[in-house]
This record gives sequence, C-alpha cells and structure tokens, in this order.
Amino acid sequence: MKLPAFEYRRPASLEEAARILAEQEGGAKLVAGGQSLVPVMAFRLASPTVLVDLARVPGLRGIDIGDDGVRIGAMTRWRDIEDEARLRRACPLVAEAVGHIAHYQIRNRGTIGGNLSHADPASEMPGVVVACEAELEVFGPSGTRRVAAADFFTGPLSTCLAHDEILQAVRFPSWPAVRRWAFEEFALRRGDFAYAGIALYYDEDGGGCAHNTHVSVIGATDIPRRLPAVEAAINGQRVEGPAIAEAARLASASVTPPDDIHASADYRRALVGTLVERALAAAAARS
Ligand SMILES: Cc1cc2nc3c(=O)[nH]c(=O)nc-3n(C[C@H](O)[C@H](O)[C@H](O)COP(=O)(O)OP(=O)(O)OC[C@H]3O[C@@H](n4cnc5c(N)ncnc54)[C@H](O)[C@@H]3O)c2cc1C
Repeated sequence: MKLPAFEYRRPASLEEAARILAEQEGGAKLVAGGQSLVPVMAFRLASPTVLVDLARVPGLRGIDIGDDGVRIGAMTRWRDIEDEARLRRACPLVAEAVGHIAHYQIRNRGTIGGNLSHADPASEMPGVVVACEAELEVFGPSGTRRVAAADFFTGPLSTCLAHDEILQAVRFPSWPAVRRWAFEEFALRRGDFAYAGIALYYDEDGGGCAHNTHVSVIGATDIPRRLPAVEAAINGQRVEGPAIAEAARLASASVTPPDDIHASADYRRALVGTLVERALAAAAARS
C-alpha cells in the first residue's frame, strides 16, 4: 500500500529537529531507520503530515565505551552494535540480544533509538535496557533530561516522550568483570518477534550465592518489566535445581500475558517459566 502524503524535512541539528516537532504540535514524526514507521504508515496506523529525518543530525550515531559504562547514540544501527566486539565484554546482554532482532536487512537500517521509541512490547532491547537499569537521554526544547528505562515505557507502543522530544542516546552502567547473565527467547522463526523473552543477570558472592539479580520479561507483558518476585527468590541462593524451579514457577505466576493470534495467555505464561529456567541454567553454566 502507498504511504499517505507527507512533507519531508531533514534538519541539521537536534535543536532544529526539536523546533520542527514543536511547530507541528504532534503532526510530525521523526524517522530514523524507517523499519517500524514506514509499515505503520503503510497500514494507516499513523499519518504524520511531516517526517523529520534524523540522518543528518550530527552526534547521534556511535558507541562510547568507558569506565563508567556504555553510551549508544540513538541513530546507531543494529549492525553497528553487532559489529562492536568490545560490547561482548562491556555489556554482553546488549551484544547477545541484538542477534535475535529481526533479519540482516532490517538490522542494517534499524536503529536502537527508533526501536526504543517505537516501544514494541515484544521487542528485545526494551527488555535489556530495563534489566540493566539503563538511562535514556532525551533532548527537548528545554535541554536534555535523563529518564530511567523503567519509566520510559508507558504502554504498548507508548513512551514518556513528549511530541517535541527526541531520544538522543542510551547509557548502560558499567558491567563488573564477574557477572552471570543470559538472554533467552522463543520465536517461531529466527528473526521473528518473540512470543516471550527473558533478559537476566546476577552477581555471585564468595560462597557462590546470587545477589543483585535482575530479571526482565518481554512479549508477555504490556511493557518490558522486571520480575521482583523472581529476583527475590534467586538472591541469596545457589542458582541450581530447586532455586531455578521455584524461580520458574514464580515467573509464570508473575505475568498476565495477552491472548492473541500467535499464542494463548496460558501458553505464554508457561513459556515465561521455561525461559527463566533456561536463562538461569545458562547463566549458572557460564564460566
Ligand atoms: C519484518 C520485521 C521484523 C522485525 N523484527 C524485529 C524483532 O524481532 N525484534 C525487534 O526488536 N524489532 C524488530 N523489528 C523492528 C526493527 O528492529 C526496527 O528497526 C525498530 O523497531 C525501529 O527502528 P528504526 O530506526 O527503523 O525506527 P523508525 O521506524 O524510523 O521509527 C520508529 C518510531 O520511533 C520514532 N523515533 C525514531 N527515532 C527516534 C528518536 N531518536 N527519538 C524519538 N523517536 C524516534 C519514530 O517517529 C517512529 O514512531 C522488525 C521489523 C520488521 C520490518
């Protein structure tokens, strides 16, 4: 289907982009890789009168890795993230999750900023930013503000961004040298959106018990969410048989998934338990 008619603008700075958004009072939309927005427009689920292309705005693309963590610019493409080998040490959950996102062609154009702003509940990276307690840098008419990932997503396909705000970058806290982690999901075919997925990590004390456990779920909730009951059940435990089984039970009980054409709520609830079990076992087996 053809796209509805729109005016195309290509600002040269963040300030200019924010000014156009403000002038249009909600009638404009940013375009990054276009991998989600273009299909949405083709299906007439959005009909912005102005498209504001971020491609020429300087400083939005790139990955900075330092002692204080990782900063990824909003216009950084999935492929740039896949190709950055240092991320496997600096934030391995990001490196792992990106391999599950879409297909090569889409990863070649799609950006982390467009993905997080689109806020698809089945999308991988929102679950990772929530699990990692990342912060999102948001640029608007009154400057830059930082938003905790857990406060960024407000509902399916909805975020806390105002109509004249732009996601500028994502900041991940530093990753300790010794941390156990895993990302597990189930999709019908590799590259499809997942029915459900789990991003988790924990640290280990000298006695081999877990602490600082972070577990988030995608696909089975309205927004990516941490699972506090599962985290509490793992903290203070050795991550093995009985603790894993109890965490899986609690995970299933913690979610109220949607019933849709792809899977029933009961199926997704059971799947979340299975994925938590697999993820904990994978994290515990990591050397
Ligand atoms: C066939 C197919 C399969 C896919 N499978 C997966 C998958 O398995 N997992 C997954 O996670 N994703 C999947 N995707 C989505 C893909 O990852 C997209 O690239 C991503 O969701 C959007 O990134 P984009 O740069 O293309 O954003 P765009 O499509 O350009 O924009 C998406 C939305 O974000 C807004 N936006 C863009 N940039 C910004 C910004 N900096 N600040 C504020 N708002 C902004 C736009 O206005 C728009 O509303 C799939 C897409 C397709 C077409």
